Formats: sequence, C-alpha cells, structure tokens
Amino acid sequence: MPTLQADELEATSKRIFQGAGSSDEEAGLISRYLVTANLMGHDSHGVIRIPQYLGDVKKGNCVPDAALDVVQETPATVVLNANWGYGQTAGTRAMEMAMDKAENQAVSSVGIHNCNHIGRLGEYPAMAAARGMVGITMVNGHGAGAIVAPFGGAEGRMVTNPISVGIPTGQGGPIILDIATSVAAEGKVRVKRNQGQPTPMGWLVNNQGVPTTDPNDLYTTPRGAILPLGGLTEGHKGYGLALIIEILSGALTRAGCAHPDPTRSGNGVFMLVLNISAFTPLEDFIREVDSFTAYVKSAKPMEGFSEILLPGEIESRQERTRRANGIVIDDETWSQIKSSAAGYGVTVN
Ligand code: NAD
Repeated sequence: MPTLQADELEATSKRIFQGAGSSDEEAGLISRYLVTANLMGHDSHGVIRIPQYLGDVKKGNCVPDAALDVVQETPATVVLNANWGYGQTAGTRAMEMAMDKAENQAVSSVGIHNCNHIGRLGEYPAMAAARGMVGITMVNGHGAGAIVAPFGGAEGRMVTNPISVGIPTGQGGPIILDIATSVAAEGKVRVKRNQGQPTPMGWLVNNQGVPTTDPNDLYTTPRGAILPLGGLTEGHKGYGLALIIEILSGALTRAGCAHPDPTRSGNGVFMLVLNISAFTPLEDFIREVDSFTAYVKSAKPMEGFSEILLPGEIESRQERTRRANGIVIDDETWSQIKSSAAGYGVTVN
C-alpha cells in the first residue's frame, strides 16, 4: 500500500485533472480538497474519487472549467447553474458569493444545480467560519442515486443527504459538523468494499430488506440500501432530516429531488450564511461559544471514552498526524487511480 506525503499526492492528483482537461487553477483546487479529505481521515471523499470524476468527464457528465451562470438573484440570494462543472469549483465560488452577500444583507443563501459532486462538505462552511460567519451547506444527489431507505423501507428513496455547519471559535479550530444523515456515507461503504472488510451491522439492508454486513450487497442489481441515521430502530430521525435536506437542496435550487428516472447524478447544493455581527458583536458570540464548549468538554467521560470532542476536532488531529506520517492509499484505490489516469495519458508511478 503506497504511503504518500500530502503535497506529493496533491501534485499527482493535479497532474491527473490537468490531463483530463482542467485548468491549472481548477486541477489545483479539486486536488487540494480531495487530499484535505484524506488528511482529515475522510478517505471516502479523498483521492478515491479521482476515478469517479474522470469517468464522469469521459462520459461527458462532468465538464472541466465549466461556466457558472447566475439564473436568479436578489440582494440576499442567488441560484446558480454550474453547467455540470466540477462541484469543488462551483461550491467554492458559491460560498464566496454567499459570504459577500451576508456581509451586506446579514443572511444569505445560494442554490446550485447542474453541479457535479462537491466532495467533503466541511470545506465550504469552514470558509465562512474563517470569515467570522456561520456557514451551512447541504446537498442532495440531483435527483439520482437514491440508495438510502426511508425509515421502514427496504429500497433506496433518498441519498445520504449530508449537512455541514461551520462556526468560528476563539480557541482551537472552528466547530465543523459534517455528517451524512444516513448511518454512513456511501463512500465509507465503498472503502470497506475496496478493503475487503465487512460493514457494521445496522448500516445496510440487502435487496430482500434483510440487514447485512456485506458491503457488496449495496451494489447488486437490484441494489440493497443504506439505513438512515438512527439505523434499524431510531431511523425516523435521520430519515426526517434527510427529507428536509433533499427538499431544500433539490426543490429550492432547481436541481430536482430524488425521482425514479434520473438522467445524471451530481449534487444539488443549498448553502446558508449568517453574518454573526448582524446579530451580536462577534467577540461576544465567540466568548459565549468558547465558554459553552469548554463546559460541554468538561463532562465526565463515559466508560470506553477518554474525553469529549467537538465536531471538527477529530479531523484537525487526524490532519496533524497524516501531515507528519503521510497518507496510506489502499492498493485497490491506487490501481484504480493509475488506470483512470492512464486513460488520459497521465502516468502515475
Ligand atoms: P462521520 O460519521 O465520520 O462524522 C463526521 C462528523 O462527526 C464530523 O463533524 C466529526 O468532527 C464528528 N465526529 C466524529 N467523531 C466524533 C467524536 N468522537 N466526537 C464528536 N464529534 C465527532 O462522517 P460521515 O457522515 O460518514 O460523512 C463523511 C464525509 O462524507 C463528510 O465529509 C460529508 O460531507 C461527506 N459526504 C459527501 C456527500 C456528497 O454528496 N458530496 C455525501 C455524503 C457524505
């Protein structure tokens, strides 16, 4: 299994995306986000996505350096057509627009349609937190890829419908909650399958509606399904959250909600930005958040735990470790990256 330093992996990834038609800037942006996902421990949204994205480009489903068109705009909102460009490019530009609007309007919101996969969501709210704002990002599958069963269902009708919220703090890094509303992101099931490992019980049902630990059961025809957050017994909560996220990301953005005959998959994206200083002085907000989180973290750990972590903390620790020790890529993922790069005449050793 190759172990690569982050900058080495990022440079390789950048060469590949350039080979597949992206500008220097776009190839660099996508590669930085993918490698950051690996650094933060989310291998499911790291360079494992290179073959998927290159396959999308080959099929004409993803367009390098696509234009980003404003479809509808008010002082506080904008709806963008990403023309099936890379989600990382559209998502970054959209968050920048949302932050600029929130600067003037206090609260702003952006919707994106015709957008390829945006990757790890946490990247975008972190931009808002770095600018002293609260950022929220949620996505659907642009109508396609319904692999999460509604609570009580044995067939997929939703996607993993993730939501990420970024909040600035004074101590340490920002709070970054970044969660799928299914028990697991699809990419995590894919990683288990690539590594030949079982999934935990309570993640999946097979196409007969029977709970299973075999990740391959998700990829059969007809497919199995991932369970909503809360699993076999409390899944009504994840299901409810996913339903709302699907509607905001699909119906409000013009991307469309999950339906039986999708033509393309991608992410319908909904972003919300709150300018904290329009509500309360930023220093007061940060003081309150720091005092609250210190209180939360002071809770006595339960058996099997050594401390209370904040959302985002585990990722920043993982990032420090992986920056120092390198990123391990499993053999199956590395061989898929090499062969998809070869399809564009890019050699990866
Ligand atoms: P996960 O289950 O690993 O949960 C991650 C979140 O939980 C983070 O906010 C993390 O800081 C927090 N966390 C983890 N352990 C913690 C602990 N001990 N104490 C406190 N907080 C803790 O993530 P997931 O749901 O599997 O999602 C993984 C990634 O997949 C996310 O980055 C998400 O954006 C991405 N995703 C993207 C799409 C897409 O279509 N673009 C779809 C689904 C998921």
